[in-house]
Amino acid sequence: MPALLPGTATLGVLGGGQLGRMFVHAAQALGYRCIVLDPDAISPAGAVAERHIKADYLDPVGLAQLARDCDAITTEFENVPALALQTLAGMRVVAPAAASVAVCQDRAVEKAHFEAAGVPCAPHAVIGNDIELAAVDPALLPGILKTARMGYDGKGQVRVSTPAELAAAWEGLKRVPCVLEQLLPLQRELSVLIARGADGQIVNYPAQQNLHRGGILAVTEVPAPDLPAEVQALAVGAARQVAEALDYVGVLCIEFFWLQDGRLVVNEMAPRPHNSGHWTMNGCDVSQFELQVRALAGLPLPEPRQHSASLMLNLLGDLWFGDAGGPTPPAWDRVLALPGTHLHLYGKAEARHGRKMGHLNITAETPEAAHAVAVQAAAILG
Ligand code: ADP
Ligand code: MG
Repeated sequence: MPALLPGTATLGVLGGGQLGRMFVHAAQALGYRCIVLDPDAISPAGAVAERHIKADYLDPVGLAQLARDCDAITTEFENVPALALQTLAGMRVVAPAAASVAVCQDRAVEKAHFEAAGVPCAPHAVIGNDIELAAVDPALLPGILKTARMGYDGKGQVRVSTPAELAAAWEGLKRVPCVLEQLLPLQRELSVLIARGADGQIVNYPAQQNLHRGGILAVTEVPAPDLPAEVQALAVGAARQVAEALDYVGVLCIEFFWLQDGRLVVNEMAPRPHNSGHWTMNGCDVSQFELQVRALAGLPLPEPRQHSASLMLNLLGDLWFGDAGGPTPPAWDRVLALPGTHLHLYGKAEARHGRKMGHLNITAETPEAAHAVAVQAAAILG
């Protein structure tokens, strides 16, 4: 397919969240028009796109409008029904493909894909009925029971130590299909973002180090402090292998556990730009959102060049609820007085506990300098 040249085409996005919003910003910078399809009347991406189609993801009229008026379509949300992407693919260029997204939507299928691609993941068992429950190898305990579908930010997960706890937890999760994973001794968590074009060209960002709090990403640091070169190379190699095996088109994020014994195992993947890649908006010469736009439009994918040590702080709604009771916005004027601070807010009207309101990127000449600014910013944020 010939490239959709900047300034001449319209790109569609399924989903109206912050990832869609930042995709739209990147697409508009290149002169594309954007249409967002999202069921909510008010959404972060719908507010900035040229047009918002308010429709359910499987609404045939909405999908037909999107296909009619867009030249190519992507998704910002991995739980968009794969059927919606499949329907659109019959009419327009769609990336990532429905089949790739479907693999990422189900932890059991995803893990089977990792194994088929030759990339190790956590020891696990699939639980979909009483026979599979009874057959679980006790060596997987203590473990984490995760719903196979629809989990995110640590939701749909229960830690279990005994077979009795496992059975009770599965009942508690309404006996939906689940994966039990062995609880692994983590040294650190890493992720790697790659972008792959329809022609097979593939580029990657360096490994990102992620710290989660309460199951939600809190901090990403790049470069990952003192990461051995061989672990970096293993992670990038595995991410590329997973993408190749999927014949993936677009930006893909692969999360890893680096274990205390030095092994690297893959955790999960997301078929889209990722929270742990937001630092690329300020720390690199090309952001993950621009790469997603380029991959979708069939444009060349430049190898990203990191020009600054980077640290990202996720900004949850909790920061709006200080001593005063709130909600009151944090003292952004003081935060932005710190060197190398770049604030990104997602335009969400109401702050709520646990809600992703934005992120703060910090860039500096050295990781130590970025870290020092982050400590100051965190003190202001409270
Ligand atoms: P989500 O889709 O909610 O991001 P994850 O599978 O990534 O789900 O799990 C969320 C977090 O829980 C991980 O980032 C990690 O901190 C922890 N975790 C998940 N699985 C394991 C495991 N097998 N061993 C140890 N920690 C885990
Ligand atoms: Mg995760």
